Amino acid sequence: MIDVFGLGGEAVNSMPFSRRSFLAKSSYFGALYAAAKLLPMRALAAELAEDSRISQTPIVDKGFASVRKIGEGLYATVSDPSKGFQTVCNGGFLVGKDGALLIEGFISVAGAAFQVDAVRMVSQVPFKGALDTHYHFDHSMGNAFYGANGIPLWAHANAAKRIVESYGALQGADKAAFLGPLEKAIKEAKTETARKHREDYLAHITNVFNVSNSTVLALPNHPIDPSKLPMKVDLGGVTAVIESYPGHSGTDVIVRVPEQNVVYTGDLLFSGMYPVCFDTQATVSGWRQTLKIFASWDKDTLFVPGHGPICGQEGIALLRALFDDIEEQAQKMHKAGVPAAEAADLYVVPEKYKNIGIFAWDFTIGPAITKLYAEWRTK
Ligand SMILES: [Zn+2]
Repeated sequence: MIDVFGLGGEAVNSMPFSRRSFLAKSSYFGALYAAAKLLPMRALAAELAEDSRISQTPIVDKGFASVRKIGEGLYATVSDPSKGFQTVCNGGFLVGKDGALLIEGFISVAGAAFQVDAVRMVSQVPFKGALDTHYHFDHSMGNAFYGANGIPLWAHANAAKRIVESYGALQGADKAAFLGPLEKAIKEAKTETARKHREDYLAHITNVFNVSNSTVLALPNHPIDPSKLPMKVDLGGVTAVIESYPGHSGTDVIVRVPEQNVVYTGDLLFSGMYPVCFDTQATVSGWRQTLKIFASWDKDTLFVPGHGPICGQEGIALLRALFDDIEEQAQKMHKAGVPAAEAADLYVVPEKYKNIGIFAWDFTIGPAITKLYAEWRTK
């Protein structure tokens, strides 16, 4: 069975190794994203405007992403999908005297190429590796660029398998048969809200299908065994620590630089956005436990999230509050006997969270509610 729910959902792709043809195709994806009402994304949370560790001027800004220095040898790549879909997720890189570590394969080879170019603006040290924080589509589809340049691809030991199961399985698959159940779900929607949620879902999954069929998948060849973590990576004057935590995808690893209180979280942190919980291995309780640990770290910690602006502890607090709110509303519906499938469409975004991004209902709030219901059932 094809692991539909292993799909990252966010969209876009390129013809591998041709940035020009990629850019020519980008406008096609604009139509899809226009439907998603993408707002321009800030690179920094307002709270960090005065933070002396962060250079207010990026070393490079291409619109779709900008790169900023955020510490000694530490850089953050922050995406703004409202201006293009080359990267979509955030990433970054760490540069020491002896080597550099890249973070994220992004959603296209153009995104990975952009990040390599950015490193070369500040250093000529060899690349020790490029790390996918997890296997999702928008973090791994550009891996082929790194592979073609001889850069080892690092990821959680299960990431390669899940890329194959989730995206490789779509290659050459019958599109009509694959999307049929989703079209049926639209027809069978009982309310206008439910129909809209299913339509958004179909649009995103269609895009994932198209991208998977036009991407040369490159699998991580440097598996990171979570039982052997934490792992220190000495880059020469900059030491990164790789750790693994549950929550978002079952393959999540983070990169910490404890000496500088900087953490690259991957999608274990959505900054100013509702959490994307659709993955079969996402767990709400596990994720909330992980956020509790993040919250226990130094109050001056800088977080580079998987999506959204760079933030401090306030970003962790907000995501925890969003989970709390989803749970509170789900709990009420559960007690009132509302079935999970119905409850998933009935969450009401409170006024105070009106400006919080929702990537797509069926990737975020909907599955958070059905997973909570499932967790209560097994208690
Ligand atoms: Zn993800």
